[in-house]
Amino acid sequence: MDTKFRGHRGMIVLMQFLSTEGPFCRDCGLGVFRHMTSRTLVQGWYGYASLIIAPITVLMNLARRDKVASLAAPQPNPHAPSHQPMDPGPRLLQRPMTWIGLLIPVALVTLVVIAANSN
Ligand SMILES: [Zn+2]
Repeated sequence: MDTKFRGHRGMIVLMQFLSTEGPFCRDCGLGVFRHMTSRTLVQGWYGYASLIIAPITVLMNLARRDKVASLAAPQPNPHAPSHQPMDPGPRLLQRPMTWIGLLIPVALVTLVVIAANSN
């Protein structure tokens, strides 16, 4: 399956766009999706533009996840040497990084609101 999963890292003034392009089998695609998305949730928020780019990156990955998730389980290719499928690892919501990452924008918004309400 040809698709591309993206990552984003915001560093106040610098930002970094990451991507890993297929073709992916189901397991490799899910593995890359989970890794890139949970990392973006932790590292993606730090900068004005990044605050917008990070959720867009996550949504794009979620939309593409379905394409690889609906593939059949990878089978060894009988006609050619085939690669060992990647271990897709724990599901996105079973990764602590995902939850830490989801709390970061909440914490940032809370700080901004507190700062805006104090003289
Ligand atoms: Zn694979």
